Amino acid sequence: MPPAPPKACPCGSNLLFAACCEPVIAQHAAAKTALQLMRSRYSAFALGEARHILASHQASANDISDTRIQQLRAELGSQHWLALRIIDTRQGREQDLTGIVEFCAFYREQDGSIGQLHERSRFQRNDDHWFYIDGDLLPHLALGRNDPCWCGSHRKYKKCHLNAT
Ligand SMILES: [Zn+2]
Ligand SMILES: [Zn+2]
Repeated sequence: MPPAPPKACPCGSNLLFAACCEPVIAQHAAAKTALQLMRSRYSAFALGEARHILASHQASANDISDTRIQQLRAELGSQHWLALRIIDTRQGREQDLTGIVEFCAFYREQDGSIGQLHERSRFQRNDDHWFYIDGDLLPHLALGRNDPCWCGSHRKYKKCHLNAT
């Protein structure tokens, strides 16, 4: 097969995948910050990269079997992740040991409507590796006609995806 053309990173960073989340997902480079790990986990959800999701979650990092990878990959296959919005970050820098990232991830529901996962996630650094610990679910963000579109275009929802979905 010819090499695939370069693709934009699913995390919405405006970088190419190869220059953003791909090295972290492929374990060629460790995430330097909690935010970088958060972005790579979102991209892994969007791309069905089950191994990275398990390996970057502290609860499952040491217990990754082929069966678990296949189960998770099957679950991911029925999900349609659309965009990631980072709302807030606390600590989680290279020298920190813990970090918090609040994000909203948008996905397409079975009926075609836009669903949200709005979460405040906790991360912890062990040696040179950041791990996702757990998170608190938060209420849905308002998605009014004049609010910023979920896709990260910086346009109003009504001028962007409202009628396109
Ligand atoms: Zn990325
Ligand atoms: Zn949009």
